[in-house]
Amino acid sequence: MREYNREARRTATQAQVAWNKGLTGEPEARETRPVGRDCVTPGCGQLAELPQPAAHMVRVEEPGSREPARWYCAQGCAGYGQALAEIRAIP
Ligand SMILES: [Zn+2]
Repeated sequence: MREYNREARRTATQAQVAWNKGLTGEPEARETRPVGRDCVTPGCGQLAELPQPAAHMVRVEEPGSREPARWYCAQGCAGYGQALAEIRAIP
């Protein structure tokens, strides 16, 4: 759980404050959010920690993104998933 820590905030450098806004502690677990795309293919958009749903599915993962790695249909769905992951990587 991350929480505001007054003492840590008081002694933090400007760079530290700019980076984490004075929060301390462990980050909360990532929540799973809907991907916002309706695809009828079973397993499209499911978390990549699950087995690959079908051979044509591709794994989409963006380092630093709040969006977890997911399986998507190749082509359109994967492009959508990549864009979503990139948007959710913006601080
Ligand atoms: Zn799909």
